[in-house]
Amino acid sequence: MSNQRRAARLPSTGLSDRRGRALRDLRISVTDRCNFRCVYCMPKEIFGADYRFMERDELLSFDEIVRIAAAAVALGVDKLRLTGGEPLLRRGIEELIGRLAELRTPDGRKPDLALTTNGSALRVKAGALRAAGLDRVTVSVDSLDEGRFQAINDVRFPLHRVFDGIAAAADAGLGPIKINAVVKRGVNDDEIVPLAERFRELGHTLRFIEFMDVGASNGWELGDVVPSAEIVRRIDAVHPLEPVSASREGETAQRWRYRDGTGEIGVISSVTGAFCGTCTRARVSAEGRLFTCLFASSGYDLRELLRGSADAAGATDAELRDALSGVWGRRDDRYSELRSALPPEAARDRERIEMSYIGG
Ligand code: SAM
Ligand code: SF4
Ligand code: SF4
Repeated sequence: MSNQRRAARLPSTGLSDRRGRALRDLRISVTDRCNFRCVYCMPKEIFGADYRFMERDELLSFDEIVRIAAAAVALGVDKLRLTGGEPLLRRGIEELIGRLAELRTPDGRKPDLALTTNGSALRVKAGALRAAGLDRVTVSVDSLDEGRFQAINDVRFPLHRVFDGIAAAADAGLGPIKINAVVKRGVNDDEIVPLAERFRELGHTLRFIEFMDVGASNGWELGDVVPSAEIVRRIDAVHPLEPVSASREGETAQRWRYRDGTGEIGVISSVTGAFCGTCTRARVSAEGRLFTCLFASSGYDLRELLRGSADAAGATDAELRDALSGVWGRRDDRYSELRSALPPEAARDRERIEMSYIGG
């Protein structure tokens, strides 16, 4: 079984990094806070009562986020994703979505506007998000077992409320809905087939994500990773699959469809099948640092550029675009590819930014 990835094509602006990759996707983290404490992302021992989250004035304002997104769209980005932390915790998120939904690419198209959420507030917010102009949601669900789901989110959040949220999102027209499931060996790998079956019945595309060594607090070990090839093999043994070619350049998931035509799944092989060669994504943290790789240890301070300082005025839109294209033009990141060549300890000990900070 094989799946092909197409090389990233340059957008009309011609902006490309040192490896010829275009800037196409911008993931914007709108908060570093979350109401869950998923054990693989924000373990309680680290993100406890003493943890210092960002203050309100440290966060990018909506005006600042819209200016950054507009600059990125002018440079070729046609996919915006809001994330976090938990993006639905950011007060007034609908207003931000409304403003982002007004942006247009240089050739007059509305960029695809998506949001990744744990689903806890979707039941209440789905209608308003859609009305504001959100196109799609991705919801994270790692287990179908109530007890296990609550043990993973570690705040006893009930699974059925996330399912209510997914149903509300579908009713509101926030589809096609994608579901993300992080698979960790010995934790939920026995649910690979049941998860696939459940979301196939519901008509949503499930994407299995290999447990990543992102951040420094989740105790990652290579042995915890269930390789995508194994996930595909296990599902294929019960429900035969065939590969589907990528629908878009730079797509993170390798797609597989059920041979009986009942839907498809995706696998995101961040550990075992690096896809840096087609990586067209940049990320902005909630406090405005621009990262050109999920595994970067430092980011470019866009907030300072926008706000200026005692001796420098804030940047104009043209200066902001120049800064973005300069950072992207210097980009040479390919952490996942290089990680495969490192001994596991070296990969583990490297300084990295937490997923809840940089935005997944
Ligand atoms: N709170 C939202 C959510 O959970 O969907 C959005 C932010 S979360 C950081 C984005 C995605 O990153 C989620 O699907 C989550 O499962 C995934 N994620 C977090 N830590 C991860 C890790 N160590 N390995 C793989 N995926 C991870
Ligand atoms: Fe929160 Fe999402 Fe991280 Fe879970 S994965 S702790 S829901 S940010
Ligand atoms: Fe992109 Fe960095 Fe992930 Fe490679 S490791 S796919 S460059 S974010």
